[in-house]
Amino acid sequence: MTRPVPYLNEEVANRDFKYYIFDWDDNILHMPTKIRMEHKEEDGTWKSVEVSTSTFALVRTDTEHYRPPTQGGWAEAFRNFADPENDGEPNRFIEDTLAALAKVSNGEKPSPSYNTFRKTLIEGRIFAIVTARGHAPATIEKAVRVFIENALTPLERETMMSNLRGYRKFLDKVETFGTDEEELDYYLGMCRYAAVTYDGFKERMANDPVYKEKLARATTAAKPELAKEFAIRDFVEHVFHMLQRTGGLGRSVAIGFSDDDKGNVKSVSNYIKSELSRRFDGIKFVVYDTSDRSLSKGRKVCVSGQMNLPGF
Ligand SMILES: [Mg+2]
Repeated sequence: MTRPVPYLNEEVANRDFKYYIFDWDDNILHMPTKIRMEHKEEDGTWKSVEVSTSTFALVRTDTEHYRPPTQGGWAEAFRNFADPENDGEPNRFIEDTLAALAKVSNGEKPSPSYNTFRKTLIEGRIFAIVTARGHAPATIEKAVRVFIENALTPLERETMMSNLRGYRKFLDKVETFGTDEEELDYYLGMCRYAAVTYDGFKERMANDPVYKEKLARATTAAKPELAKEFAIRDFVEHVFHMLQRTGGLGRSVAIGFSDDDKGNVKSVSNYIKSELSRRFDGIKFVVYDTSDRSLSKGRKVCVSGQMNLPGF
């Protein structure tokens, strides 16, 4: 017989502090959403094509053969990656998340970080979603809820709640708890959802003194990577402040980042080595390249900061 899940898992107090930053498309889920591009044909003419996110990750810097639609530019290219303009319309992101989850439950091989994301949720660890999409943070949070409902078993959800209460007691010194719904709201509210082409995100980045300057110097191709950098810095600062507030900084702290886009992996690794690991020298950073679908967890490409943390 399996042991019943305790209402409150006090064991979380003995764990290392591990946090994760996940790219969404082809890292957590293979989404069916397509990007509208133009492709240069053999005869030199440009033809409209729809490409998958995994193809896009490979061809996005191939400006000789691919370009955004001449009518509408990048906004048109990523029209399916933003929230609908009118409130009543269905949200493609939620629909595509459900479709991608259905494929996994029907036996299709999940994306490389699918299981790490599941584990992160079950363990009740704080995470960030950092994506090139253009959704409002609330939309991504909603997709995470859809993921919790579909990718976790009832027992795993119960374990998650037990761990969440454990962290609330350990870190926030809470003794009485809200309903499951309220505790889940609190947890998901502590996580971060950054869609870097969302207007609100772009605005925040443009108003940041450091990134305002970095943006002014960056080429168009380098801008998405810069935006991911900004979102990562945001999350690392958030985790740091949370641990500072709760007195958790004396412990081993590790932050993992996973992305299937080699360009992002490279620029984020450089950013961690040149800036983040110096600013946060108590934190260990680990970067996973998940571009190879045959590897179940991706490839560890960069480790910076504290060494030899078990289990990472
Ligand atoms: Mg991706």
